[in-house]
Amino acid sequence: MSISGLPPYDPGNIFARILRGEIPCKRVHEDEYALAFHDIAPQAPVHVLVIPKGEWVSAADFHAAAPAETIAGFWRAVSAVARELGLEAGGYRILSNMGADGGQEVGHFHVHIFGGRRLGRMVPPG
Ligand code: 5GP
Repeated sequence: MSISGLPPYDPGNIFARILRGEIPCKRVHEDEYALAFHDIAPQAPVHVLVIPKGEWVSAADFHAAAPAETIAGFWRAVSAVARELGLEAGGYRILSNMGADGGQEVGHFHVHIFGGRRLGRMVPPG
């Protein structure tokens, strides 16, 4: 098990394969800490994923195990991506799903950036 109680990191996960260049993506930003690309099934006019470059399953893993500089660099990249996408003036939402209740599908820590319209309630009625 990983730190977060999720299964251990699987290097064959889809985002690991995107990082290795085995699968294409619509890249919007890359630096030493993060890669950002458009979600394949966007749920807002702008829907971008930001992923760190190391092997972390979830937010819990990342924040517990990654070096402080890596964590800072990643979150700076998230803000830079939103700025580069022109979302700062209108606002945007960042979200990270974790585990089954969180609806996490891909076991490589990632942050969603949503924007381009009024996004409404934080959590839709279930
Ligand atoms: P999660 O539910 O794990 O937080 O979100 C995973 C996200 O990855 C989903 O929004 C899904 O549409 C996206 N996704 C899954 N496979 C691919 C892919 O091959 N390419 C891209 N760009 N996004 C993907």
